[in-house]
Amino acid sequence: MAAISAHEPATVAKPLAGRVALITGASRGIGAAVARRLAAAGAYVAVNYSASEAAANEVVRAIVDGGTKAIAIRADVSSEADVKALVDQTIASFGRIDILVNNAGIFPTQPLTDLDSATLDNVLDINVRGPIFVTRQAVRHMGPGGRIINFSSLAAKGAANMAAYAGSKAFIEGLTRSLALEFGPRGITVNAVSPGATETDMFAPMLPMKEYVVSRTPLGRLGQADDIASVVAFLASAEAGWVTGQVIGVDGALSF
Ligand code: NAP
Repeated sequence: MAAISAHEPATVAKPLAGRVALITGASRGIGAAVARRLAAAGAYVAVNYSASEAAANEVVRAIVDGGTKAIAIRADVSSEADVKALVDQTIASFGRIDILVNNAGIFPTQPLTDLDSATLDNVLDINVRGPIFVTRQAVRHMGPGGRIINFSSLAAKGAANMAAYAGSKAFIEGLTRSLALEFGPRGITVNAVSPGATETDMFAPMLPMKEYVVSRTPLGRLGQADDIASVVAFLASAEAGWVTGQVIGVDGALSF
């Protein structure tokens, strides 16, 4: 077998070189892991956050130290004005958007009878309107080979005391399939990942149930942010060019 030249592994290891990724909610948790993972694959990354400025700057610093480019951009995805500025700033900095990851989300939990209107509005504004606002602005700049990756959840299949959150994620699955049809003729794929229990800040309210969740998970542990990020990296790659309109469970078979 011919020896691999020093040049070849670098090419193989940077499958997203020259690509620009916009990742919402990339200051913490899964979004931060996705930002680091796509940057490690060579992408330039716009790291969106809404409140955690220091954490977002830390993600950017780690990416830049790793030898690629990143910027942190504050924007509340539920504000159309913020979202327009987010996309404009990404274009001003990097000139294009190839990969959009609609990761930002919130996770309110309560019985339906305790669900107040402000909480319901908040979850619909951030988890439902947010991905629509960001996609509507970003897709204007995307061309053939573009990748949109949305975030559903195992909860979309139904989860007690999570009606608003579960409903918001079920919406994302319908949105994903619909946009795959709409943007397919433009050569843009649209998929969703559906994480199970993943150990981030968001999982904190579920920690009292950790042992039970692990006991129900055939792979015997909680998911980690990097478990999700590697699947997003695949969907963002050229290798996934024939995959669209899919919801990919990333949950250690907790969903079975
Ligand atoms: P997380 O640790 O709570 O992080 C949430 C991220 O979203 C933060 O970076 C936060 O940034 C950002 N964010 C929240 N509201 C925002 C807004 N209005 N505008 C812009 N950014 C906003 O959550 P995670 O666990 O990484 O979850 C990421 C995605 O995976 C979510 O869509 C979630 O629903 C989904 N998911 C998670 C799990 C799980 O078990 N963790 C399971 C299934 C699905 P700031 O701090 O700057 O506000």
